[in-house]
Amino acid sequence: MAYDADVIVIGAGLAGLAATAELVDAGRRVILVDQEPEQSIGGQAHWSFGGLFFVDSPEQRRLRIKDSHALALQDWLGTAAFDRPEDHWPRKWAEAYVDFAAASRESTSAHPSSETTGTSFATRFMPSRMGLTSATSASR
Ligand SMILES: Cc1cc2nc3c(=O)[nH]c(=O)nc-3n(C[C@H](O)[C@H](O)[C@H](O)COP(=O)(O)OP(=O)(O)OC[C@H]3O[C@@H](n4cnc5c(N)ncnc54)[C@H](O)[C@@H]3O)c2cc1C
Repeated sequence: MAYDADVIVIGAGLAGLAATAELVDAGRRVILVDQEPEQSIGGQAHWSFGGLFFVDSPEQRRLRIKDSHALALQDWLGTAAFDRPEDHWPRKWAEAYVDFAAASRESTSAHPSSETTGTSFATRFMPSRMGLTSATSASR
């Protein structure tokens, strides 16, 4: 069988699926490949807890959870323990992501509420060297 495409996306996790959707929307022909069988499409998202990273969101405020940009960054840096030269870019990513999450807090009201989706708005899942860790200093 001959294959022809403008782009080959390797990995059908969320990143690969999002990239594929964008490319298809832009009119590109895409081949999406994954090392796993078709029933595993989605990658790690199969095991994801559904936690969303928000900073001082309307949902948190409604639940009387005090949160802030400084607290979120403290959680991330405290969990990740960036202390090596090669941690420079991961730290920059953490800072940029907290900036993004804090700046977009008002837009969360456009999303379905945690009551209907079962997502945990009050929990932060932090990337760490050991994997994914739950950490939050936001008081409930
Ligand atoms: C237990 C658990 C709970 C989680 N909970 C949350 C949460 O609550 N909130 C949250 O935001 N995030 C959570 N995450 C993290 C989130 O699920 C991942 O960050 C996200 O799904 C990663 O998507 P990705 O597309 O970047 O990578 P992946 O999902 O890892 O996708 C990569 C894909 O590439 C494929 N692949 C890799 N190498 C090759 C190769 N050489 N050739 C072909 N295919 C290849 C893999 O099979 C996989 O399908 C959780 C993760 C786990 C494991």
